[in-house]
Amino acid sequence: MKALLSKLIHIIIMPCNRVPMLIEQQNAGKLSFMKKIRLRMHLYICKLCAAYALKVKQIDRLLSEELSEERKKIKFKEVDIQHFKEETKRKINF
Ligand SMILES: [Zn+2]
Repeated sequence: MKALLSKLIHIIIMPCNRVPMLIEQQNAGKLSFMKKIRLRMHLYICKLCAAYALKVKQIDRLLSEELSEERKKIKFKEVDIQHFKEETKRKINF
């Protein structure tokens, strides 16, 4: 039953390859209510995408955390953060 539900969600609700873009839109606050629901349904049923979403969350938190006095000199540019994310996505074949 769960396998069938999983297939239905992947085929009808949302395929895995759309998840990274929607996560980015969600983080930017640009995701519609319906897309949020569909993303949540997908993440509920798909362990791989849920793991990816968790990693993105952790990376975002690490990169945006306030740095200690000593490390404040090191700044990440937004473009570098985006590049890092794109490279990470590419390497895990999303
Ligand atoms: Zn998935």
